[in-house]
Amino acid sequence: METDCLFCRIVAGEIPATIVRETDRTLAFRDIGPKAPVHVLVIPKEHYADVTALAGADPGLAGEVLATAAVVAEAEGLGADGFRMIFNTGRYAGQEVFHAHVHLLGGAPLGPMLAT
Ligand code: AMP
Ligand code: ZN
Repeated sequence: METDCLFCRIVAGEIPATIVRETDRTLAFRDIGPKAPVHVLVIPKEHYADVTALAGADPGLAGEVLATAAVVAEAEGLGADGFRMIFNTGRYAGQEVFHAHVHLLGGAPLGPMLAT
């Protein structure tokens, strides 16, 4: 655990979050500033700064993050109409929290893939 990492502190239970699913190695919780009717973040419990570090060090765990996101998508009723998963990585993508996470977004039409 990184003591100054927000998402590590959520994993440790030091900061509250609305958890929607937990597995041995992953955690899914609602984004505090939702950008869609359903906006869930899925993270590995272990700290990796971004998806590149996660996939390089432990591709199996990266797969578990995606599998949890897929289960949450189904549980949240997003399967029929579809949804989007986003890994913001680095400065150009506007990554704010440097603990790998995938955004799961859905529940309404999501518009174009990128703001232009
Ligand atoms: P990113 O820009 O990809 O790093 O996204 C970080 C996300 O974390 C943003 O969508 C924030 O709204 C979200 N966030 C920040 N603090 C919290 C928190 N305490 N609980 C849940 N989500 C958070
Ligand atoms: Zn962390």
